[in-house]
Amino acid sequence: MTLHRRQFLSRLAAYCAAAGIPAFALADDDHEHEHDEDRRREPDSTTSQPALPETGLTGRVVVVGGGMAGAAVAKFLRLWGGTGVQVTLVEREPRYTSNILSNLVLTNSVQMSDLAFDYARLASAYGIAVIRGEATAADPVAKKLTVATASGPQVLDYDRLVVAPGIDFAYPEGLQTPEAQALVPHAWKAGPQTTLLRDQIRAMPIGGTFVMTVPPTPYRCPPGPYERACVVADWVKRNKPGSKVIVLDANAAITAERESFTRAFEVTHGGVIDYVPNAPVTFVDTAAKTIHTPMGPFRGDVLNVIPTNVGPRLLADIGVANAARGFAGVDVLSYESTAVAGIHVIGDASATTQPKAGHIGNQEGKVCADAILRLLGGGTPDPSPVTNSSCYSPITWETASWLTAVFAYDPATRTMKVVPGATGEALAATKDHFEDMFVWFRTLMGDTFA
Ligand SMILES: Cc1cc2nc3c(=O)[nH]c(=O)nc-3n(C[C@H](O)[C@H](O)[C@H](O)COP(=O)(O)OP(=O)(O)OC[C@H]3O[C@@H](n4cnc5c(N)ncnc54)[C@H](O)[C@@H]3O)c2cc1C
Repeated sequence: MTLHRRQFLSRLAAYCAAAGIPAFALADDDHEHEHDEDRRREPDSTTSQPALPETGLTGRVVVVGGGMAGAAVAKFLRLWGGTGVQVTLVEREPRYTSNILSNLVLTNSVQMSDLAFDYARLASAYGIAVIRGEATAADPVAKKLTVATASGPQVLDYDRLVVAPGIDFAYPEGLQTPEAQALVPHAWKAGPQTTLLRDQIRAMPIGGTFVMTVPPTPYRCPPGPYERACVVADWVKRNKPGSKVIVLDANAAITAERESFTRAFEVTHGGVIDYVPNAPVTFVDTAAKTIHTPMGPFRGDVLNVIPTNVGPRLLADIGVANAARGFAGVDVLSYESTAVAGIHVIGDASATTQPKAGHIGNQEGKVCADAILRLLGGGTPDPSPVTNSSCYSPITWETASWLTAVFAYDPATRTMKVVPGATGEALAATKDHFEDMFVWFRTLMGDTFA
């Protein structure tokens, strides 16, 4: 166990105890023994039992995807809607692995098990029926969802369907087979790909080259790729002296926290990071370990290609993929699809003016839950929703920067617009911000899963 990880967990536990926020259950993994002591410090997540209100509302809501957006909408439908609102959560994985903070797994500051959240609390405290399975089809007229489970197909009836399946990838030429993807990981959905990339970085030769790509916007977590470049650069400086980090950006310039990352690339990690804009991936030659772009070929010892983000296939299969790149157009007052009535799409899968981010996914889950409850009661959605987004980006092993924005509904354009004066970013990457990052993470994940 690293000092970082121990600090991380004890900070989480201390904050949790001080704030009275119930803890989430850390899931098991290979590092089980390391967790025993830390686990004892975790308060029992089952001790606080929220009283669900009797609102008189009734209805059946099925949610697909138990990530940042799906878990949040499921929880708040029950917390605000009460016992008459039946909520079923369909999720293909046994537990959720947070993408947030997963860049720190690459440098061993955080372990995968620190990022794992199970669904036990959503089931036990909020009475959400959790079904492990893959949603495959929906009949919007009969209002039925088909789910493939280990024991065969199940058909679920719903009054409202909420779809929150995250993103998928459009792989470039050369990376379209599972074999190629196992050689050049994306690590943009936290899980085995993250540990694969971590192991490749660890095995990189001293003086080696790490080449990574930034996909064209919109993609999940706008600052995330630049943050990755920083933490990997910081790690190689200490562990693989003389190494380089090459960042090939499909976009014309850094897409988020431009000042902070320019300073980080040119000053903090000057001489280590080479930033190349206007460099979309045209071909990946896995044998020659080379990424081809209009700016030239780039050879590396470790390649990390984050492919173009697209809407998951399910969106097209159920008829809601009516925005660019197969994402779903929605009415942001309710997140109801603009293509199919009765189906709501939240999180990264929806096409809005807000960033594809976990914090916003949580916010969209709440706005959507509120709108569905009003609709079930025969009313109309809140006409003026407000959401906010925050992102912390580690720049070194002990400093971080941050970015925040508030969005409000604009009736003229029917979009969420940034509220002037309510947007900001850190003036500098500091140790305090690094510590605050764990408090923010803990609060967000507690609000979503606990
Ligand atoms: C390295 C990295 C760092 C990040 N850092 C931040 C950050 O600092 N702040 C921030 O706000 N965001 C951050 N993000 C972005 C954030 O993780 C995503 O925006 C967020 O997870 C989106 O939430 P979601 O619910 O839409 O999708 P997800 O969280 O991906 O959840 C989707 C869920 O749906 C399930 N699913 C998909 N299809 C089906 C199906 N057919 N049937 C059943 N289940 C299905 C999946 O298994 C998954 O559990 C980061 C992302 C990365 C990659």
